Parts: sequence; C-alpha cells; structure tokens
Amino acid sequence: MRLTVEGVAFSYGSSPILDGVTFSADSGEILGIIGPNGSGKTTLLKCINRILSPVQGEILLDSESLRGMRPRDRARLLGYVPQNAVSEFSAPTVYEVVMMGRAPREAGWRSGAEDERIAWEAMADMGVDSLASRPFNRISSGQSQRVLIARAMAQEASVLLLDEPTSNLDVRYQIEVMDIVRRLSREKGVGVCAVLHDMDTAMRYCDKLIMLEGGRIAAAGDTADVLTPENILETYGVGVAIDNSYGRPHVIIL
Ligand code: ADP
Repeated sequence: MRLTVEGVAFSYGSSPILDGVTFSADSGEILGIIGPNGSGKTTLLKCINRILSPVQGEILLDSESLRGMRPRDRARLLGYVPQNAVSEFSAPTVYEVVMMGRAPREAGWRSGAEDERIAWEAMADMGVDSLASRPFNRISSGQSQRVLIARAMAQEASVLLLDEPTSNLDVRYQIEVMDIVRRLSREKGVGVCAVLHDMDTAMRYCDKLIMLEGGRIAAAGDTADVLTPENILETYGVGVAIDNSYGRPHVIIL
C-alpha cells in the first residue's frame, strides 16, 4: 500500500502552516518527518489522519482518497499515535485502551477470543501486559506512550502515523519501541510515518526522510541524503558533523 500526500496546504485561521507538502511512503518502509519546532510536523500527521482538513491537496491510500472515506474504513487502514493523548481516552484501564484498537471493525462489534489474543500480544510486545488492569490515567507518560503504540498495533492498520513515539521513553525503551516499529514494517509490511525529533533515531531507523521548514519540504529523500551537515545547518541553524567511526552514522553537534 502506498500513502501519497499531494500538494497539501493547511492554515490555522489566516496563518498558513503547511504549503505544497508532497511525498509518498510505501508499505514496509519507515518514513521520518523531521524539522524544527513549529515547522508543521504534528499538523501534517493530523492532516493525513483527517483530524484536520487540508485546505488544498489530496491524501491517497493507493488510489483512494481519504477525503470521502468513512471514518470506520479509514481507522482500519490508518493507526495514529498522538503525542499527548492521555486526556483523549476515557477508557478506565490499559487493557480497555488497547482493546479500542480492535473496535473499528464493524457496527455492533464485540470483542472475541481472537481480539483478546491480539490485544494481549500487542501489550506483551510493548511491555505493558503487567499494567493491563491499571487505570490508564495513572501510569507514567512513557508507559502511556507504549500503551498507545500497543493500541495502534492491535488495530492492525496498514499505515502507522507516529508522533514522536519515543519522546517520553528511557533509552532502553526508545530502542525497543523503534525495533518493534522496524519489525512491523519489515515483517508485516506496515507503512510507517514517524515524526522524530532525535536525529540519531532518524538516522538509525528511517529509510526515507522529509525535512520540514516553515511548513514546506526543505529536503526529502534517502535518510543519508537528507541528514547532511549542509541541510541541518540550513534548516536548524546548527553546525553538525556526521561521524561514522562506530560502524553506523551518528550526528555530532559541533
Ligand atoms: P511541530 O510539530 O513541527 O512542532 P506543529 O505542527 O505543532 O509543529 O505547529 C506548526 C505551527 O502551527 C506552529 O507555529 C504552531 O504554533 C501552530 N499551531 C499548532 N496548533 C495550533 C492551533 N491549534 N491553533 C493555532 N496555531 C497552531
């Protein structure tokens, strides 16, 4: 499945936030969205997920526009992990939040044994199965981030939209979560679009990147071609070098 974003523009009131954003991401590929604070990364994910309606442009899954799709059908195809979602979920327990990932199946849906198996497997993969009966609003931000990724995994969507999936996680979970995201992409063919603020994480896990600056794409392409000292200086105003001495490239801030 291919996600195509074509000429997307968005404004909050009269302030233009995104302009002419065009890219595509394929199944089995991790596309990273990077750029300075306020460059429009979260807004872009929300436009793709139709939480916000672009004022211009088209978003397609294969050849089908998301615009006319019923929310239930869209939810089956697109999984979204927002940045701070604690207040968006009223379900009392971790298990129920993850089970909500199974809910956009059909009208009158009730969970069955297969749904339960999938929910438990997703919780185990994210290391939150021991929290299953805990109230969702009384776990740490790192734990709730992993619960929401488990929910998106339980959804078995074709494309995952992740907004800074590792921002609240300690270093061990950062690696575990990104390893699982990579496994979903490689083994299950899930397409991944992830907003990442850490350039090393982007370097290590992303196949392709788009770099946003002021709502426009400043650079796009293979990760190594986008995360260059020239592009980072231009977009972030920070001098860096790329160090290859540990067997894989790292971004060193000068
Ligand atoms: P990023 O994710 O790259 O940090 P955002 O997409 O969150 O950027 O924000 C892009 C711009 O839109 C910022 O200038 C931000 O202040 C503005 N913005 C975000 N949310 C709103 C909102 N609800 N109303 C008005 N402006 C907003």
